[in-house]
Amino acid sequence: MCGTCGCGEGQMTIDGKHHHSHPREIALERDIMAKNDGYARANRQRFRDAGILALNLVSSPGAGKTALLVKTLDMLGDTPCAVIEGDQQTTNDADRIRATGAPAVQINTGKGCHLDAHLVGHAVEDLNPRPDSFLFIENVGNLVCPAGFDLGEAHKVVVLSVTEGEDKPLKYPDMFAAADLALINKADLLPHLDTDLDLIVANARRVNPQLDIITVSAKTGFGMQDWLGWIKATHADQQSATAAE
Ligand code: MG
Repeated sequence: MCGTCGCGEGQMTIDGKHHHSHPREIALERDIMAKNDGYARANRQRFRDAGILALNLVSSPGAGKTALLVKTLDMLGDTPCAVIEGDQQTTNDADRIRATGAPAVQINTGKGCHLDAHLVGHAVEDLNPRPDSFLFIENVGNLVCPAGFDLGEAHKVVVLSVTEGEDKPLKYPDMFAAADLALINKADLLPHLDTDLDLIVANARRVNPQLDIITVSAKTGFGMQDWLGWIKATHADQQSATAAE
């Protein structure tokens, strides 16, 4: 019997706090995920029907997602792109994206720690991305919650900066398992750090042996052509898969 609420479950306390899930909370969580998955399916269908490649960029705060996107958009030039920016507060990132000329919508999640498919669906309505374009969704900086929420994207792309330590894939395995590509960013800083790049790669592959990994520097442009090549090849794969349906 739980001594705090009497719910009949064994009590687990950490620092004297009440830390177990109640059946009603679990049911609510299932309901939220089912609703999210329904919206995600609708988003995915819309993207595929329009030939849009949607990528969901996830990382901890400060890994360099926005700088990477700005560089990516600059390098993609006239290729039609649109961006959805997720942050708890401010329009700073959407402002940085719009400065490149790409259309962007900012979602502020307030207390929320991740984007969900319903919010993204509304942002897509506002953006109305062009057929056959690239849609980049920059999720709220957080290596935990965004892993569990399908937004209807074709792929999650996890961005990890070389300053974050080699063991992040092992500490946050859900995110690295959910991603299809890892971009190891800020490679320009490697000469100043003791970071073992090979160990980051090995740890990421321990969690997800199928993971594609590209080392990049949004600052110097190192590896950026490989990333652009991945985007274009992935879009071509999606287009031919859709045509074959
Ligand atoms: Mg950002």
